[in-house]
Amino acid sequence: MDNRNMTVMEYLPDMQVIDSLIMDEVMNAYDAYDYNAYTASDVAAALSHEQISMADFAALLSPAAQPFIEQMAARAKSETYKHFGNAVGVYTPLYIANYCENHCVYCGFNCKNKIHRAVLSHEEVEAEYRSIAADGYKEILILTGESRAKSSVEYIGKSLEIASKYFSTVGIEIYPVNADEYAYFHKCGADYVSVYQETYNKTTYSEQHLSGSKRVFPYRFYAQERALIGGMRGVCFGALLGLDDFRKDAFAVGSHAVLVQKKYPHAEISFSTPRIRPFVGGDDKIPCGVNERQLLGVMLAYRLLMPFAGINISTRESANFRDGVIGMCATKISAGSQVGVGGHDGDSKSENQFELADERTLSEIDKMLRKKGMQPIFTDSSYL
Ligand code: SF4
Repeated sequence: MDNRNMTVMEYLPDMQVIDSLIMDEVMNAYDAYDYNAYTASDVAAALSHEQISMADFAALLSPAAQPFIEQMAARAKSETYKHFGNAVGVYTPLYIANYCENHCVYCGFNCKNKIHRAVLSHEEVEAEYRSIAADGYKEILILTGESRAKSSVEYIGKSLEIASKYFSTVGIEIYPVNADEYAYFHKCGADYVSVYQETYNKTTYSEQHLSGSKRVFPYRFYAQERALIGGMRGVCFGALLGLDDFRKDAFAVGSHAVLVQKKYPHAEISFSTPRIRPFVGGDDKIPCGVNERQLLGVMLAYRLLMPFAGINISTRESANFRDGVIGMCATKISAGSQVGVGGHDGDSKSENQFELADERTLSEIDKMLRKKGMQPIFTDSSYL
């Protein structure tokens, strides 16, 4: 699809437009957010409040908050314990396809990159599920790359139906769809939907998403709302930290999640905090403008803003960092991750989407959690 000459605000035919003002509200807040305007006394005042407001959140994400990181961590730890006890959700991701019609400059799966492409047959998908379930997992996240042509709605629906035979919680990270298609996926067995806006800076968004349906900023922005309209239980938010100004992007993610929660009080909200990583076909020199301490600051600010929200910790991060944030602010961790197509029952059928920093298996993650006094939870719900 060649829409590179269209602006990122133009919808493509068949994309559903919903009645919502949340994007305007988030973008106004994003434009107005000047993190350099906050001082140490703003941060101290924020931490003295029982409930963290959006103004407090803005202060907690600012550079002035960096000296307060230990204080933020202590409070985050107590909030996490209050809402989640010592339980940590464990899941594994499975790529069932890697065809993609988008040209995201920072991703090895983009349509201009000459890599091996694959889409698993339903028999192969089931063999992967069988192997993953035999390892003890009850929750799976199914990913496809973003190609409606190669991974059709029907193909994904059937893959979900098979998944519900093996897993009690099924998430999807696929191309955004309309509300009736989310309703179909929910009927087939999906519980939650992850969609990352990558960056809320429209200029950077336009420069980084050169063509394909992902180029349409508002359609992606409203994916979580369409998923909830379609009956999904949970939605996950995130930006690809390091793609643009991470503080402004994290602020927009938090604003987006709070407004969606306000409009859909029943929604289970969660956050992911991926940082940009080197990828196949890239030059290995991706500048990552977010160090670990800053990443931790973002995770802590999310925890304090929404104490009851789930926070996932990505395998893009080192084992050391992941172990440190579990129980402090993160509530969900992946194990045995593969970021090529298939691979859980043998060889992967493609290159990896990005480099993993933590390749530990389920039993290694399980051991680490128990050593920390945490309780690994393989499912936290049943399909409704
Ligand atoms: S980030 Fe997602 S949509 Fe973009 S090229 Fe990679 S797989 Fe495709």
